[in-house]
Amino acid sequence: MIAGVVRGREVTGDLVLEVDAVVVGTGAGGSVALRELARAGLNVVALEEGPCSTSGELTQREDEMLPLLFQDAGARMTQDLAIRVLQGRGVGGSTVHNTNLCKRTPDEILDLWARRYGVLGAAPGDLRPAFEAIERDLSVSEIDAPMRNANNDALRAGCEALGWRGGPLKHNRVGCQQSGFCELGCAYDAKQNALKIVVPQAVIAGARVYSDVTVLRLSHDGARVTGVHAEARDAAGLPRARVEVLAPVVVLAASAVGSPALARRSGVPDPYGQLGRGLRMHPGAIAAGRFDREIAGWRGIPQSYECTEHLSHEEGSDERVWIVPAFAHPIGAAATLPGFGAAHMAGMRAYSNLAVLTAMVHDETSGEVAVDDDGGPVLRYAMSEADRRQLAKGLVACARLLLAAGAREVTIPAVPALRVRTVAELERLDLAVIRPHSVPMTAVHPMGTMRMGEDPHKSVVRSTGEHHQLRGLFVADGSLFPTSIGGPPQISIYAFALHLAPHVVERARGR
Ligand SMILES: Cc1cc2nc3c(=O)[nH]c(=O)nc-3n(C[C@H](O)[C@H](O)[C@H](O)COP(=O)(O)OP(=O)(O)OC[C@H]3O[C@@H](n4cnc5c(N)ncnc54)[C@H](O)[C@@H]3O)c2cc1C
Ligand code: SF4
Repeated sequence: MIAGVVRGREVTGDLVLEVDAVVVGTGAGGSVALRELARAGLNVVALEEGPCSTSGELTQREDEMLPLLFQDAGARMTQDLAIRVLQGRGVGGSTVHNTNLCKRTPDEILDLWARRYGVLGAAPGDLRPAFEAIERDLSVSEIDAPMRNANNDALRAGCEALGWRGGPLKHNRVGCQQSGFCELGCAYDAKQNALKIVVPQAVIAGARVYSDVTVLRLSHDGARVTGVHAEARDAAGLPRARVEVLAPVVVLAASAVGSPALARRSGVPDPYGQLGRGLRMHPGAIAAGRFDREIAGWRGIPQSYECTEHLSHEEGSDERVWIVPAFAHPIGAAATLPGFGAAHMAGMRAYSNLAVLTAMVHDETSGEVAVDDDGGPVLRYAMSEADRRQLAKGLVACARLLLAAGAREVTIPAVPALRVRTVAELERLDLAVIRPHSVPMTAVHPMGTMRMGEDPHKSVVRSTGEHHQLRGLFVADGSLFPTSIGGPPQISIYAFALHLAPHVVERARGR
């Protein structure tokens, strides 16, 4: 437990807090906004709906960690049930269970946002100081080759055999024991994330943090935000006390799903129908290669090498697939591998000899976060035909990489399952089979539902992060992005929160 974090489940009576600013959510974006407000000497509080976990509580068991660390216990889905959407819940947000890959927003994407979406002051040169500062804070470094496990080495071998573009990734780990359980939180406290680094820095600077407190709605008069109404919950998730925060500045950092859902259920003005629109998520699917040798992909750093042969960030490109390893723990693997009964058992018996790659689409599909009758998020996302083709192309590329690395057989868990042993078989595949509902898809990078830009007809917040219509309402999470970024987003989210923090501070000082 971080000193200074108050557990909402221990709050004994209703609370009314009067502060300069309140931050909703403590993930990548919220932690930085909170820290910068506190460092500017402002009276600031963060409300986080999930718990505050210590590394000692992170048992690395799927059955215990999925309910503890993930929204909807890891079962959040798009409305049509085609894509599983994984997101974090708790102090540190999705940075607690993410796989620690660190890449900056590509220059082409920042240029596109300026050119097409009217984002001001966020050119590559403008963002550089924020990227450098965040990378220093989180001790970002390249993952050394000796730390590459056999699953990642299969991807490297495939890239080298085919002459495809690939290379090592960067991460924010120090003292990593290579236990391989990053997606369930780190029991060894090796992750230099929002939970370990940024939130404690914020608390040292004077910020207050409440965990287990869900913000139900924002209060506003149609022109200015005035605070939030929230509810502290007990360990079973039942309401325990009401929490009201009075503040002239509210920073939304509840993720690209949580922030628009909260804004929608609060009746935030939306004269041009932009709120919640533009949802992107890098949907991905996997291909698994069975090798004659042991791979033991559950051991070691899960992702340390990437293939960018089919990834371009240029606008309109037909190369929009990012390939990285994606080894699943036993329950996840059993749920993904195709077949029933003896056939499924045979697949699981080969578990230790599997190498698994994922193709993630740098998506153009524009989805939406709406709300249901109870105010909960509804994710509408109907994958476009162009993105479906990218997914199919990506899975074929994964299969080629695995075969080139020496896999005896590659399985794409479609319905019916696709199995190939040679490139010739791969070339004969009917790729129309690879489509939503026929292949299990997962997305871990929701973005873009409260987009920034200067034109209120096309965006929800200004380039400063402040809402076009509601003074004092800021966004500081992945919702800001006008498009997909085609790579791991955490560094971009931390950096944008830092880059925009001076505007939030200025408003909280009453200017
Ligand atoms: C399995 C997995 C692996 C990943 N791996 C990587 C990786 O290697 N590299 C990378 O760059 N990115 C990775 N990501 C993505 C990355 O972690 C996220 O993009 C990033 O953390 C999002 O930051 P955020 O601030 O937008 O939201 P989050 O970090 O998700 O934080 C939002 C917080 O808001 C809280 N919240 C929501 N609603 C409310 C409410 N009403 N009241 C109070 N609090 C609320 C949530 O509980 C949560 O803690 C991964 C994600 C997943 C799921
Ligand atoms: S691989 Fe490293 S960072 Fe990941 S859970 Fe294990 S010790 Fe922690």
